[in-house]
Amino acid sequence: MIIALAGGVGGARLANGLARILPESELAVIVNTGDDFRHLGLHVSPDPDTVMYTLSGLNDTERGWGLAGETFACMEAVGRLGGESWFALGDRDLATHIERTRRLEAGETLSSITADFCARLGIRQLIVPMSDDPVQTRLRTPEGELAFQDYFVRRRCEPKVTGVEFAGATAASPSPILVSLMRSERLSGIVICPSNPFLSIEPILAVPGVRDWLSRRTVPCVAVSPLIGGKAVKGPAAKMMAELGLQTTPQAIATQYEGLIDGLVIDRADAAQAYPPCHVTDTLMRNVAGQEFLAHEVLRYLEQLRASPAS
Ligand code: GDP
Repeated sequence: MIIALAGGVGGARLANGLARILPESELAVIVNTGDDFRHLGLHVSPDPDTVMYTLSGLNDTERGWGLAGETFACMEAVGRLGGESWFALGDRDLATHIERTRRLEAGETLSSITADFCARLGIRQLIVPMSDDPVQTRLRTPEGELAFQDYFVRRRCEPKVTGVEFAGATAASPSPILVSLMRSERLSGIVICPSNPFLSIEPILAVPGVRDWLSRRTVPCVAVSPLIGGKAVKGPAAKMMAELGLQTTPQAIATQYEGLIDGLVIDRADAAQAYPPCHVTDTLMRNVAGQEFLAHEVLRYLEQLRASPAS
C-alpha cells in the first residue's frame, strides 16, 4: 500500500495518477484540512473536495478546481442580495457542502462523511482528511494575521507572508483511518505530492504524531517538488519561499522535508541544481497521461530506494 500526502490541485493530480495505476485497495490519500472554513453557514473543505472530484473524474480540468459543467447561479443570487460572493461555490458543489454540513451537525465525523461521499461517487481508494478536529492555517503578514481563504482568495496571495500557523493543530488528533494507516504492515512507500510545502503539507505534518511517524518510517518516502524551473506551476509557493528568505530550488524543498524523505523528484528544468538523492524527470502533469507518467516515475523511484536504501 502507498500513502500519499496531498493538498488540492498539485496533490490531486499526482494522487489521480497513482489511483489509475495502483490496484484500488493499495492507495490512501491523506489530505490537508487546514484550508477548511465555514462560509455562508456551510463547512467547506477545499482540498479533500479537489481530491475527491479529481479521483471521481467529476473535476473541471480547465479551471483546476470544482466540478465540470458547473454553474454559479446561486452565488450570483447571493451577491444580488448583498451577501458574500467573494468565494465562488458552484451550484453542484454547494450540494457537497450542504450535505457535509448537515451530517457534521448530526454528529458524524469529517472522515466518515468523506469516506461515504467517495463510495457514493465510485472512488475505491481511501481519501482521508488528516484530522476530524479543526486545524486552521493562518498567515502572518505585515497587515496582521490572515485566515487562509482571506489570504488565498480574497487577497489573491498578495500580502507578504512572514510566517504560517496552524491554529488548533496541537490539540488535534490524526483521523482514525490515518491512525490505522500509520500502523499498517501493508505499507510499502510514502509519497509527498507536489503540493505547497508550507500551506498544504506542513499542516498535515503539524497534526500530532504525523511528523514523528514519518521521521521513524520503515518504508521509503519520496517528495515531488512543486517547483518547475524555480517557479510554482500555480499558486504562491515560490513567492512565499522568497518572502520567507528561501531560495526557490530543489535543495530548499528538500530542506523543508529534512529527515522525512529519502529522495526528491525534481523536474528536468531544475536538473542543474540536482544533488543526490534526487530523481530527475518530467514533472508537469498537463493531463491524465502526465499524471500517470509521474506516478510511474515516483513508484519506480520508491522501488529503487527500497532495493538499495543508500542510493
Ligand atoms: P492547492 O491547495 O490547490 O494550492 O493545492 P496544492 O498545494 O496541492 O497544489 C499547489 C502546488 O501544486 C503548487 O505549488 C504547484 O506548483 C504544484 N503543482 C500543480 N500542478 C503541478 C504539476 O503538474 N507538477 C508539479 N511538479 N507541481 C504542480
